[in-house]
Amino acid sequence: MNSEYKALSPETLGVRLGALDVMKQAVGASPESWSVREVGDGNLNLVFIVEGEAGSVIVKQALPYVRLVGDSWPLPLKRAFFEYHALTRQEARDPGSVPEVLYFNEDQALIIMERLQPHIILRQQTMQGLKVEGLAQRLGLFAARTAFRGSDLSMAAPDKKADTALFAGNVELCDITEALVFTDPYFDAEMNRHTTPQLDAVVAQLRADQALKVEVQHMKRAFTSRGETMCHGDLHAGSIMVTGNEARVIDPEFAFYGPFGFDIGMLIGNYLMAYHAMPAHIADEAACKDYQNWLLSVIEETWSVYCAEFLRLWRTERTGILYPKSLYEDQGHEFASEAAAQQLLGEIFRDLVGFAGIEMHRRILGLAHVAELDTIEDEDLRAKCEAKCLELGQLLVMNRNRLTGMDAVIATARQTE
Ligand code: ADP
Ligand code: MG
Ligand code: MG
Ligand code: MG
Repeated sequence: MNSEYKALSPETLGVRLGALDVMKQAVGASPESWSVREVGDGNLNLVFIVEGEAGSVIVKQALPYVRLVGDSWPLPLKRAFFEYHALTRQEARDPGSVPEVLYFNEDQALIIMERLQPHIILRQQTMQGLKVEGLAQRLGLFAARTAFRGSDLSMAAPDKKADTALFAGNVELCDITEALVFTDPYFDAEMNRHTTPQLDAVVAQLRADQALKVEVQHMKRAFTSRGETMCHGDLHAGSIMVTGNEARVIDPEFAFYGPFGFDIGMLIGNYLMAYHAMPAHIADEAACKDYQNWLLSVIEETWSVYCAEFLRLWRTERTGILYPKSLYEDQGHEFASEAAAQQLLGEIFRDLVGFAGIEMHRRILGLAHVAELDTIEDEDLRAKCEAKCLELGQLLVMNRNRLTGMDAVIATARQTE
């Protein structure tokens, strides 16, 4: 491949990538016989499934613009570089959690990776009312391990600082989050859309809520300034691929160093939206209730797994510059160390609740929506589900410092039924 960037197509992919050793090994030595399908359903990039006699891989390539919007919105190719570096860190910090990276080409903004199969996107699984055994365990571990092991609790200072500098270059993708998540939903911004006219009154009330806007900007300040750990940055239910009993994380191009609670907060916000969307997807009332209860149990368990794993790592891998053992365990002050860990988890909890609420708002008021809600064809029913999410989001953001634990979050979700 020459070094000048050119977007791949199903027609050119075999010719352009056929000579790569990795493709010969993983797909097969005769590119003319490969079958190539573009399957990107995301908002930003090209994604190809390439199949041949030896097997199949995923080829993901960034485009120089936002796919969802078109070439009027340019976006740097360098996001593939951040995705590649994030994938390698996630694999190191939580082995087996992400697809294996087989090849990276920075000039072509191109990653060749393991194809997850027969996995489907978690949202698709949810909309069919299918559960995933072990989902909470897998994602709770992923969130806790990447959070802890990417932070000053664990990393050597020079590594953490070099990594912070590297990901500080992910300016444009952070800017997307800063605008589309933390700003636009709260005023009548150009690219917003919502179910209208059904939600107009609720939306007006929300945008007039000055205390809410202040609280959201407090959370945005945490996002922009608190580089505690490497976050996935886009950990929604479209960035998780599942089977009936496995879950893997994909698509970390938004990776940045940010607050501990960001990823798990976004994830829980997505579970809560699915919770309120389910009546539109499962007709049978008892089956729907059962699935909703499962979603709530996943939320509770994800957080309990997160806390247990974070504490385990606190006790066994606290080798970074923060809360040094020389001040605590070495002095026989285990109690103070445990208390500090609990206080930190309390802080993470209050943050994640705020991020969850904001994620719920932006998916209903902003540019990028979620399929669980967006595919509800009956607009009145959709608006009803969305209104519940908006109210829940508002309660979470405003009460995040008062909610005593995940059971209180769940009680709030039930209250907004
Ligand atoms: P984008 O950054 O554009 O959102 P994604 O990385 O989310 O792109 O990929 C888009 C879609 O491609 C996913 O929803 C999934 O269906 C498919 N896909 C991506 N990576 C893989 C993978 N490693 N294995 C199987 N399918 C994948
Ligand atoms: Mg995606
Ligand atoms: Mg209409
Ligand atoms: Mg993406």
